[in-house]
Amino acid sequence: MKYFFYQIVLGALMVACAAPTQDESYRDLNQNGQMDIYEDINASLEERAADAVSKMTLEEKVGLVVGMGMNLPGPDMPIGQTKEKVPGAAGSTFAIESLGIPSIVLADGPAGLRISPMRDSVDQTFYCTAFPIETLIASSWDVDLARSIGQAMGSEVKDYGVDVLLAPAQNIHRNPLAGRNFEYLSEDPLLSGKMAAALVNGVESNGVGTSVKHFAANNQETNRMLVNTIVSERALREIYLRGFEITVKESQPWTVMSAYNKLNGTYASQNKDLLTTILRDDWGFEGLVVTDWFAGNDAPAQMAAGNDLIMPGRPDQSAAIMEAVANGSLAESVLDANVARILKIVFQSPAFAGYAYSDRPDLKRNAEIARKAAAEGIVLLKNDQVLPVSGPQSVAAFGVGSYEFIAGGTGSGDVNEAYTVSLVQGLENASYTVDEELKQTYESYIADEKEKQPEKQFFFELLPPIAEKPLTKAEVVAKARTSDIAFITLGRNSGEFQDRQLAGDFYLTQAEQDMITRVSDAFHAEGKKVVMMLNVGNVMETASWKDKVDAIVLAWQGGQEAGNALTDVLIGKVNPSGKLPTTFPIAYEDVKSAENFPGKNLPDAEEVKMGPISMGFPSEVIYEEGIYVGYRYFNTFDVATSYPFGYGMSYTTYDYSSASLSSETFDESIDVSVTVTNSGNTAGKEVVQVYLSAPGESMDKPSMELKAFDKTWLLQAGSSEKLTLSLSGKDLASFDTDRSAWVVEPGTYQVSIGASSEDIREVLSFEVAEEMVVETVNKALAPGREINELTSK
Ligand code: BGC
Repeated sequence: MKYFFYQIVLGALMVACAAPTQDESYRDLNQNGQMDIYEDINASLEERAADAVSKMTLEEKVGLVVGMGMNLPGPDMPIGQTKEKVPGAAGSTFAIESLGIPSIVLADGPAGLRISPMRDSVDQTFYCTAFPIETLIASSWDVDLARSIGQAMGSEVKDYGVDVLLAPAQNIHRNPLAGRNFEYLSEDPLLSGKMAAALVNGVESNGVGTSVKHFAANNQETNRMLVNTIVSERALREIYLRGFEITVKESQPWTVMSAYNKLNGTYASQNKDLLTTILRDDWGFEGLVVTDWFAGNDAPAQMAAGNDLIMPGRPDQSAAIMEAVANGSLAESVLDANVARILKIVFQSPAFAGYAYSDRPDLKRNAEIARKAAAEGIVLLKNDQVLPVSGPQSVAAFGVGSYEFIAGGTGSGDVNEAYTVSLVQGLENASYTVDEELKQTYESYIADEKEKQPEKQFFFELLPPIAEKPLTKAEVVAKARTSDIAFITLGRNSGEFQDRQLAGDFYLTQAEQDMITRVSDAFHAEGKKVVMMLNVGNVMETASWKDKVDAIVLAWQGGQEAGNALTDVLIGKVNPSGKLPTTFPIAYEDVKSAENFPGKNLPDAEEVKMGPISMGFPSEVIYEEGIYVGYRYFNTFDVATSYPFGYGMSYTTYDYSSASLSSETFDESIDVSVTVTNSGNTAGKEVVQVYLSAPGESMDKPSMELKAFDKTWLLQAGSSEKLTLSLSGKDLASFDTDRSAWVVEPGTYQVSIGASSEDIREVLSFEVAEEMVVETVNKALAPGREINELTSK
């Protein structure tokens, strides 16, 4: 069904036209009987691109920088010239027939490949594996795991004839209500950057590309194509750009996707400071930049800014570029550079190699990887001696969510998977007995409620969730007598085009609160335990109800194998080792950005529509909290949290010992070593976090910032591992706006080694003798106005 609506509206109802077939060879000898340089794999990509550009007409060049379009229903919808090599893919480039250069295909997304599972007149399905959402992947804090997930995702990309996966997404979790947080990794740029780099390296190990997105400061869905995001240079460099910088430098992705929003007054896709000065000149990005779909409003300006490829592409954009070249407002040499960057990617693509893709990825193997990954990112938030459950138990499963598991969010981050394993199915697969009467009651309630739901009008329309089923006291008391334990699941879904609500989403509904109270009272009266599962895409309120239950398992949205992975943790087959990549606040107002999220409509703003679809209103959001995002705010300003950044429990305990530094003074780098010992009885893995507190004399500094992390291998009970983590000059530095430089203050630096941002086990310190300017960068992206920014002074 998800697929059906997606097709209907944004659809990719692509018109088949002269598509290159998978094994068609484009490489011929030229008239002189020689191979052209652009076809010569021994020549450099630069030489090959230059050769091809020199042979292309202006029309061909413009043809390449504007994608083939999408057919969209409705009278006013833009229609491009499309084709259909991989139905359901987000877009493709034009082939250059005269040179035998094929079209390449780009498809979403962050939780796995999103293409249509069905094709007209084809007796085969094209399902993809729904891997866990990125927030869960980040919760594993395991870069090797992220790499292996990427590797598996990339294998499906290649096997289905796609060239570039439009992922990973790595915008910062600035505010819990942002509708696409599930697609993103963390509130911290280091964790985001390292995990995204690992995903890129994994996907690209298959010889296909990625698109790191949405660059940058795309932290909300409200007015996403019209909002002007105003951020200080320091907050940009340290928070909103830093993760992308790490990813670009550590994985050199094939492509970067520019964001929808304006950044300090200019659309990201038209922002030369962002796409050229910072991304290429400061960071050394070598790939191509692609717009987000239908982003921006000035195609020649996109070319000039260094946004090489416009997607999905419309004829009016090609016409505007032709016109700009003709009237001299866009130099053809600029267009040539855009074309060359696209060609360098095309030359590396499976399409150019004529790769004979199978259309039969190893879905069985990838489901196993998805299951393992989903278990590794589960975070145990509370456990009063109840988990793991032992022996054959009869389980009473409450909550609509226990039967209707959410694999991942909606929109382009969705995947068309063959199945989703619910909690109850996972338990049954592990031979646990689930109360059958309760199960039937819930299943018929869910079926009835689904009947009442309105038809989706657009693929992105998130239907209202099924209201929690009211429970009578008598029925709960009866179950408490006959069952050994109660499991409750709370589910939350969200996705593209809309931010989340406070009532009934971040906060619980009254029916959910009543269910928790009723189930807990009844089971506790019988001396039995209650375990809460959170099947959610991002942060929600936990403080008001957490004392009522005995254990809380944050399962996130674990992809198609979610229920099996959750069961693996509940029964102790997997010892949980996930830690929070984002803080769980007590109340929404405790999050600093709540004061200005999602910004304000501009005076006299009028609604903008694309066909029948509202794009929202021109608006502006000012990031007044500056660098104080997530734990940087909670820790510095002593605001209590429900569960802090980096937090997560295990079925065992870990001791930290023998912490040491490689030196007492900082020169170019310093190593932090610590030994972690499994002091409990169960084998497990521990995530070790290294936070740094800088002097903060000459610059305002958060009380501490994550600067390194590592995860032990599976430590058997009683065994130890010594971890050594390295800190560079840049890790010590903050961004000095006046100097446009990363500067290390002199003084004493405190190194806090912890199991979470609030559970610090070892504290060490070292000295920096004198100020160091570790890197000077280009002056760029000045907000052009005063921002009333939060400081700790
Ligand atoms: C999303 C992108 C996605 C693109 C193509 C856009 O609406 O913002 O993340 O890659 O569509 O589907």
